[in-house]
Amino acid sequence: MPSARYHARVVRPISGPDIENGTVIVDGNLISWVGPRADAPEGSDIELGDVILSPGLVNAHTHLDLTALRGRFNGLEFFAWIRALTAARQAMSPEELLESSGAGIREGLQAGITTFADTAPNDAPFEAMRELGVRGIAYREVFGPDPRQCAESMDALRVAVAATRPRETALVRVGVSPHAPYSVSDELFSEVAAFARRERLPLATHLAESEDESNLVSRGEGAFATFLRGRGIEVGARGRTPVEMLEKNQVLGANALLIHCVRCDPRDIVTIEKHWCGIATCPASNRTLGHGSAPVKAFLTAKIPLGVGSDSMASNDGMDMQREARLALGAQASEHAVWELAALGGARALRLDHLIGTLEPGKQADLAAFPLGANSSAPTRATFVAVAGRVLLDD
Ligand SMILES: [Zn+2]
Repeated sequence: MPSARYHARVVRPISGPDIENGTVIVDGNLISWVGPRADAPEGSDIELGDVILSPGLVNAHTHLDLTALRGRFNGLEFFAWIRALTAARQAMSPEELLESSGAGIREGLQAGITTFADTAPNDAPFEAMRELGVRGIAYREVFGPDPRQCAESMDALRVAVAATRPRETALVRVGVSPHAPYSVSDELFSEVAAFARRERLPLATHLAESEDESNLVSRGEGAFATFLRGRGIEVGARGRTPVEMLEKNQVLGANALLIHCVRCDPRDIVTIEKHWCGIATCPASNRTLGHGSAPVKAFLTAKIPLGVGSDSMASNDGMDMQREARLALGAQASEHAVWELAALGGARALRLDHLIGTLEPGKQADLAAFPLGANSSAPTRATFVAVAGRVLLDD
């Protein structure tokens, strides 16, 4: 097959300055050349027109199977919201979960997203990512706030991982996700982390998202504490902060992705940096649920690998990584910083930056093109998307 020469008004490699009238050459699943069109080597021409051609964007935190529940529980406070959401998901059939996951991926593709980091207690997002040809990590969620449930939860996780792992592909990997401090005991956190290290699986966990969660972890108080006590579970202080609780349970490490991290103080940030964890920040979701905003500038100053995530469509109204990056960085951020966070930042946080996140020879041909001069307040729609050289969207 001859090389494909993708020509665009602007090529935005992220790894270097924009190239006016640029070309990206793709051989098979890899990028083989990036530069000005006038200097491009031979190949078959594909004119993308008046677009910005960039690396595919990375959605560093999704719950694709919840896409169908968009807007269903707007206005509920966090504790009631998460209970309503969990009950609604339990009522969905495997087919509905798969369909909902596929709808989420198609929406993501239209927003130029080529990589999804998804957490779910079922294999629907994993299957949908495989079917639709996108790149991703499907972190299998595990729950168990009662230490007495630990062995049972671990058995279920091992069975689920053993069933999906043989079906991993070059694009879609399996990980594990102890859900959150209010739904996972210390014992289960440390067992899942040990399992992930042994099996070399990436790990993701929701962390330091709400005030209720911080109250539970640091003092054994608040809405989650009351709920857990009502189920006969012993609740006490578990650590100075959620981050320190995870450190104590040996969850923090280079394979760990920490989702949210809204309530991180300077000591927590030093701890996250020391263990070289990635962070997925979800500013629109945090705002919708009234959790406040994460200390993104401090994360970046500490050089913590940081990506942006939409979170589920039950706490967001769309997947727009440029918008998430603008919300995370603030209005004064440069366009370069916004795009870097939306593409390379997520790749770094997921430890995939050796494969994706920039347009450079040798990297995977995950590409997205966006109309030039699009109104930045409107959702950012892509006109062309490819993953590993395969075209998935072409308007
Ligand atoms: Zn989430």
